[in-house]
Amino acid sequence: MKNVSLVSHDVCSGCGTCSNVCPKSCISMVRDAEGFAYPSVDEQKCIECGACLKKCPVEKERASGGTPIFSVVLQDKDGESLKNSTSGGAFACIARYVLKQGGVVFGAAYDELLNVSHVAVERLEDLHLLQGSKYVSSDMKDSYKKVKFFLNSGRLVLFSGTPCQVAALKSFLGEDSKLLLTMDLVCHGVPSQKLLQKYIHWLGEKNLSTIKSYVFRSKKFFGWSLGGAFSDEKKSYAVNPDCDPYYAAFLRGETFRKSCYSCKFANMNREGDFTVGDFWGFHNMKDPVGFDHTKGLSMLLVNSPKGENVLKQIESDAVIVPMDLQTISAGNWNLYHPSVYKPIRDEIYANIDLPFEELQKRYLHHEDPFMYYVRRLRRRLLPQGLRDALKKILGRA
Ligand SMILES: Cc1cc2nc3c(=O)[nH]c(=O)nc-3n(C[C@H](O)[C@H](O)[C@H](O)COP(=O)(O)OP(=O)(O)OC[C@H]3O[C@@H](n4cnc5c(N)ncnc54)[C@H](O)[C@@H]3O)c2cc1C
Repeated sequence: MKNVSLVSHDVCSGCGTCSNVCPKSCISMVRDAEGFAYPSVDEQKCIECGACLKKCPVEKERASGGTPIFSVVLQDKDGESLKNSTSGGAFACIARYVLKQGGVVFGAAYDELLNVSHVAVERLEDLHLLQGSKYVSSDMKDSYKKVKFFLNSGRLVLFSGTPCQVAALKSFLGEDSKLLLTMDLVCHGVPSQKLLQKYIHWLGEKNLSTIKSYVFRSKKFFGWSLGGAFSDEKKSYAVNPDCDPYYAAFLRGETFRKSCYSCKFANMNREGDFTVGDFWGFHNMKDPVGFDHTKGLSMLLVNSPKGENVLKQIESDAVIVPMDLQTISAGNWNLYHPSVYKPIRDEIYANIDLPFEELQKRYLHHEDPFMYYVRRLRRRLLPQGLRDALKKILGRA
């Protein structure tokens, strides 16, 4: 078996469409040294039909996608469900509607070892598995084939994922279906599962325990914020993103798959019937439209008449307020641009096989918790003018 890349590693998003469409099943997705999956072709079996390249969403011209028809801020009225959602629970509201129609919902879930892959959920009580952002590349497995199976069985399907995954599904299916709803995320970029696994093991070693769950955007300790939480057998711990090596590097955009830095889907031509993200625009508003923003707010772009119709069906389940595109997209740079490549990204992945303790010390820069609180206290106590004057005196201006 030779390792043949169908499109260059710099642009391949690892969506796996090629491996799903191959009529000879001769393409498998294999992880490289960085931990990202790329297609590997068994040339003995390949009949050079070209189906893989024809369907590759990165290779082909973008035909799909739509510009937003309108945009809203949304908050789930179900308080328990809202706690499990990263933002305002737009995903859960729409997913509940689909499940109540006897439909199926696809999204990213952890397994018991905290690997992340796309799975199908058919029962309301399992929806929590898909809720919450996992800031890592999700393994698609055979999701596209399963979606096709459910659509052919006459079931309504909601597929949620990063824009490249939604584009991949649509390319795999080849035609739209009135039974298919898609939701893409505003996407910052995705680190590899290898990096996440090394980090989780390191956390476990530090705590002399096994990490049982990890929630990147937990509302438990800090309310709606970037803060997270993880638990072992005994208790839960808060994760301060500025002081955490994996999270801080993620937020700075230093650990993404190469293709994320030239993502062709990071613009206002959206793949999904819906686009969801955090509504950070509330920071600029005097009255954040009457919501309790500490519990989380979603920004939701409605990009198709199908999406418009579904939004009407969930009106009684959520507080929904129309919001202009400019306000709604404030603070969401990735709606318009891919993340900017940082040279340290290649250093991190070139050294990924170092023990994580070493890797984080050398390359995954993060703040010391004590200094973090000193800085915050200084900011709270000293007015800006005095801070600037002190900086000048200390020669740091
Ligand atoms: C890697 C990544 C980067 C993101 N970057 C931004 C950003 O820069 N700005 C912003 O506003 N929002 C970003 N988001 C989206 C944001 O974190 C919330 O997921 C979004 O606001 C939806 O929140 P919710 O409350 O509606 O529902 P949630 O319950 O949080 O929705 C979760 C949905 O996200 C899907 N999902 C979770 N993890 C993954 C994954 N690894 N791959 C594919 N799908 C996944 C789940 O399948 C589920 O459908 C990002 C999400 C991810 C996964």
